[in-house]
Amino acid sequence: MVPMLGPEEADAVAETVRSGWVADGPRVVAFEKAFAEEVGAAHAVAVSNCTTALHLSLYLLGVGPGAEVVVPSLSFIASANAIRHTGATPVFADVDPVTGNMDPARVAEAITPRTKAILLVHQGGQPADVEAMRAVAGDVPVVEDAACAAGSRLRGRPVGAGALLAAWSFHPRKVLTTGEGGMITTDDAEWAARLRRLRSHGMSVSAADRHAAEQGASKIVLEGYEETGFNYRMTDVQAAMGLVQVSRLAGIVRGRREMAARYHELLAPLGLRAVRDPSYGESNFQSFWVELPDSAPSLIDVLTDLAGAGVSARRGIMASHLEGAYAGHPHPPLPHTERLTSRSIILPLHHELTDDDQRTVVDALAKALRLDPGI
Ligand SMILES: *Cc1c(COP(=O)(O)O)cnc(C)c1O
Repeated sequence: MVPMLGPEEADAVAETVRSGWVADGPRVVAFEKAFAEEVGAAHAVAVSNCTTALHLSLYLLGVGPGAEVVVPSLSFIASANAIRHTGATPVFADVDPVTGNMDPARVAEAITPRTKAILLVHQGGQPADVEAMRAVAGDVPVVEDAACAAGSRLRGRPVGAGALLAAWSFHPRKVLTTGEGGMITTDDAEWAARLRRLRSHGMSVSAADRHAAEQGASKIVLEGYEETGFNYRMTDVQAAMGLVQVSRLAGIVRGRREMAARYHELLAPLGLRAVRDPSYGESNFQSFWVELPDSAPSLIDVLTDLAGAGVSARRGIMASHLEGAYAGHPHPPLPHTERLTSRSIILPLHHELTDDDQRTVVDALAKALRLDPGI
């Protein structure tokens, strides 16, 4: 993915450097506020990346050794890894073959008395049905891995609105980037305050508050450390980029949705199934994937042919249970996960792509699949 960065981001970063405040400071606070507003959450807590956002969210809920967390295998491996980082056990559940998101019926089967959370991934920006998941979750908290879902919508509201805890990524592969970076959003003020302490060594006073006190703006307060925290902070340099990127988000998503619609038009005559909006929401199409028909050559052959034609497609979403890190890890049958990971590819979709480029991609795909475009 080609990140959409312009002179505004470069200026914002340069200004931050000149200000002298490069670590966690006022720009982080401003970025948190802007991001919370954008996704319809009461609070946002900026962190170093989405993996730490996921870890901290689970840690906050008391997930630890002996606990189980239900998660899709069909996700970037960080989803499952963050569960392991708490000492808990990831329990893989299969996905819906159409949306690629975790199937509530499979989650219901995976819940045991040890289940302490469900990690629901809005995969590739495709909004997952949070309400349907809550209906099977009962008392088990649903944490949202919204790494890919900034700007996606669910029942008329942004993904993140009403979320118990949602974790976001600002890696350059995502729609909104700060280089590295992440965020946790929630409507719970006490949780947000504790997350702020936990991301910064458990410190009771933030750097911004201490600075204000030292400048005489408020009473001097000595910080305390009531619990063992982490260093998961974001810097003001990252937040300065983030502030510009948040203001671009709606436009970025509009552009991606137009390109997805164009791909749908071009792919229709080939009879290929591509990811689409679910009935209950709108995707930001961070990942635009196409399922290969049964008649198609192997995934590697198709990607090789496409690369030969100058088209940089990627394999579909990975399946964590097939990686060495999870070798021997028990799991139920995951037929839809295995089919989607081995038989889907992600087409290029970025702001520099022209209509002609999209036609070139689809023509190359038709050739690689030995299909007749007929147009
Ligand atoms: C990218 C991604 C992550 C990890 O995000 P980082 O910011 O790189 O830690 C986690 N979950 C999903 C679903 C992702 O796509």
